[in-house]
Amino acid sequence: MEKPDREQRHRNRMQRKKEIVDEAIARADQEQGLLLVLTGNGKGKSSSAFGMVARMLGHGMKAGVAQFIKGRSDTGEEAFFRQQDGVVWHVLGEGFTWETQNLARDIETAQKGWAVVREMLRDPSLNLIVLDELTYPLKFGWLDLETVLNDIENRPPMQHVVITGRAAPDGLCEVADTVTEMKDVKHAFRAGITAQKGIDL
Ligand code: ATP
Ligand code: MG
Repeated sequence: MEKPDREQRHRNRMQRKKEIVDEAIARADQEQGLLLVLTGNGKGKSSSAFGMVARMLGHGMKAGVAQFIKGRSDTGEEAFFRQQDGVVWHVLGEGFTWETQNLARDIETAQKGWAVVREMLRDPSLNLIVLDELTYPLKFGWLDLETVLNDIENRPPMQHVVITGRAAPDGLCEVADTVTEMKDVKHAFRAGITAQKGIDL
């Protein structure tokens, strides 16, 4: 008669677990605009942010996207989301610094870009703002962290902000509500496989 015992024990365990989960859900009843940071060396930061843009649109809400380091202009997400009514899409960066090789221009581009973001951070009709690869201009000192955090802090109370990019500064992670670090366990690129449409771009 081992089996019924096991099933009963499992049911008891699951019942206790359900009570704990239900309690946690009942406790988490606040509504507020969140600041999320998706960082780390593993793949999945930008694609996760764009997944949240899709979720927003599914709820009939609006999203703004600002891309700070423009790697390529042929991505599936840009082609798709530019066709959607509820999305404003800004490309604010020019490319990685080793490609532009002009520091003064990088700084100017980043500052001009931030002025565009500041407008979005004052627009309560935007429910979500994605600041894709914002960590790089912060890391290179092209944008001042204090200024950036201050503008984010003063956004409309229900607006969500998602920041992606490797090496997110500590000061940013400290004030964020949700921080996820993508861990690079393996990446196909290192096995000689080029970026694949729909997966990497
Ligand atoms: P994704 O856009 O796929 O979510 P990501 O935003 O986490 O990736 P980035 O650092 O922005 O990663 O790099 C963008 C591109 O580089 C993507 O094509 C991605 O697949 C690729 N990539 C991401 N992580 C790695 C890695 N650890 N090694 C090699 N290539 C990577
Ligand atoms: Mg990315």
